[in-house]
Amino acid sequence: MSPGPDATAPQVLVVEDEPQVQRFLRAGLQNHGYRLLEARTGKEALLQAEQHVPDLVLLDLGLPDMDGLEVARSLRRWTQLPILVLSARGQERMKVEALDAGADDYLTKPFGMEELLARIRVALRHSARVGAHNPNAAFSSGPLTVDLDLRRVTVADREVKLTPIEFKLLSVLVKHAGKVVTHRQLLSEVWGPRAADETQYLRVYMTHLRRKLDPGPEHGRVFETEAGVGYRLCWEPD
Ligand code: CA
Repeated sequence: MSPGPDATAPQVLVVEDEPQVQRFLRAGLQNHGYRLLEARTGKEALLQAEQHVPDLVLLDLGLPDMDGLEVARSLRRWTQLPILVLSARGQERMKVEALDAGADDYLTKPFGMEELLARIRVALRHSARVGAHNPNAAFSSGPLTVDLDLRRVTVADREVKLTPIEFKLLSVLVKHAGKVVTHRQLLSEVWGPRAADETQYLRVYMTHLRRKLDPGPEHGRVFETEAGVGYRLCWEPD
């Protein structure tokens, strides 16, 4: 990944209260092109996650106001976004509890940047594949291909540029291709649980997506609207 913030680069929420570790994470992640959000307390972490819906959470278990485990449990009530736990040496039981609470993986401090980056890539790749119909990260159906790893979308062999929100919305639909995804689920996964009733967001962004992903009259539809319920990505297995 090239250095510098790219609006479509994955966004990582770093939840860490130690300034030294914070600086290390900030420098390393920014150098590798990730967009960052930071929180120093559990409360701040939950707020940031709900407001910005990052692509991944790096979660320190020892936070000043609440247990990192509680943060993980609370996130799991509304989102499947990957959670990577950072724990101190000797917290073996905490690690098991963190995995039970819904964390995807953990790293024991101190760890190197290379190791962290590798774990982040695995977690992001894994989340891109959850529920996808084929074993690699590229989804393909009729005229549409979506590479969830590279964040590349093509329609009838034409590359389409999507905004981060549009991409997130499309990726949730791709993960459930062929099935109806409810308004509430889409809103919660893309905009956060506080936006679960803001169906006008969806109407606006689905209109953008439909326009950008219009495959042309010779192809069928990409999306179906299930009135009053949600949307479905039409899926024909390739
Ligand atoms: Ca700490």
